[in-house]
Amino acid sequence: MPVSGSEIVKLLPGRKPCKDCGFPTCFAFAMKLATGGTTLDKCPYLSDEVKAKLEDMLAPAIKLVTIGTGENKLEVGNEEVIYRHEKTYIHPPGIAILISDTEKEEKINEKLKKVSDLKYSWVGLTLKAEMIALYNESGDREKFLSLVKEIYGKTDKALIIISNDLDTLFSARDICYDRKPLLYPITKENIEAALPRIKEKPTPLGLKGESIEDLVPLTRKLKENGVDDAILDPGSKDVLEAIRDQTFIRRAAIKQGFRPLGYPTIAFPCFMARDGLKEILLASLFVIKFASIIVLSDFDENTLLPLLVLRLNIYTDPRFPMAVEEKYYEIGEPDEYSPVLVTSNWALTYFIVSSAIEATKIPSFLCVKDTEGLGVLTGWAAGKFTGDAVASMIKKCGIADRVKHRKLVIPGRVARIKGELEDALPGWEVVVGPREAAGIGAFLPDFTKTLRK
Ligand code: SF4
Repeated sequence: MPVSGSEIVKLLPGRKPCKDCGFPTCFAFAMKLATGGTTLDKCPYLSDEVKAKLEDMLAPAIKLVTIGTGENKLEVGNEEVIYRHEKTYIHPPGIAILISDTEKEEKINEKLKKVSDLKYSWVGLTLKAEMIALYNESGDREKFLSLVKEIYGKTDKALIIISNDLDTLFSARDICYDRKPLLYPITKENIEAALPRIKEKPTPLGLKGESIEDLVPLTRKLKENGVDDAILDPGSKDVLEAIRDQTFIRRAAIKQGFRPLGYPTIAFPCFMARDGLKEILLASLFVIKFASIIVLSDFDENTLLPLLVLRLNIYTDPRFPMAVEEKYYEIGEPDEYSPVLVTSNWALTYFIVSSAIEATKIPSFLCVKDTEGLGVLTGWAAGKFTGDAVASMIKKCGIADRVKHRKLVIPGRVARIKGELEDALPGWEVVVGPREAAGIGAFLPDFTKTLRK
């Protein structure tokens, strides 16, 4: 539940506007704090007690938890809303593949290869699974530790360590501690025994309950012991329970501001469904209904890509159109006589135009003008794809240094900017291309021949 400026101001020192925080009054400072526009340390007159209280009030409703390190780290939590249309979801759920210590070497290598190879370029982004969950299914300590060592040596992916034996769990953690793995499960039965070893080398913890009620004392216990990086598993056994539990946790954290449930969640379609298709359908449900980590028993290109695209769509900020960076993009391996085309930076436009160019197999340059995510025609109507604006981008992006010719292809829908663009770009000839990307296949081969001549 977001805290208001008037609640914050009650705790501030209220010195006669000293303005040391950079704001004219304590109230102005409080209002800014409530919206995240400044930080507590700007007021030097807060007692430790008040500071701690304010930090707690200002903390996000769902804690940010980081698993893994470096470029493979996964951040989850920090969500601010229940419904995506209210604002946006922030951290997409991590997708993990489960590797059991009962699986054969061949199968393990196949799964590792999938996690590293299945990557998809999608509207300027790379979609992929982020995590590997290692499961001590055999109950054999040595076998599991040997698996953890092997996977730790072969991949940098963020790891989840799953073992019901506490000693095995912490021994596995010691192998990959520098990778900041998620340890699972910490339960009401083992938390007392686990605490000393948790505090010795802190790392994120997966808390498992038989129900949501079980999780509350667990998070409280951890917090009392200064440990706060937790991921919740309410132990849902079927789809209906899963929807109910995930929704309850999200609502309790965000609407009621109930801190003991203000943590990201983990879901295990791998243990809930026997059939691969049902497992992916369950995973889709967890993408929509609030899970922060989703563990799958396996996937392939047919099941992973739809799941990743769904995740991208759900976690795209609905307030802003998806856009790509303003610059020139190389399609294939263009040379100094390759065509130069221009389009807007709406991701869908970029994707359609670049795909149409790729389909011709003619290496080209595609210059993308920042229209704040608008399409070509809308961008022109909004004054962001005018001749002057495109000319300025062409001059800045450096494409003139990459080609010997001076011909620039503009979309047929904005043929009207040709004169203005030629005036603003002396030495360049502006060629009006097809109105639709579908026409690029017919247009580009003949046009490229004229450049080569
Ligand atoms: Fe108030 Fe602190 Fe700002 Fe002074 S520095 S005006 S006491 S908030």
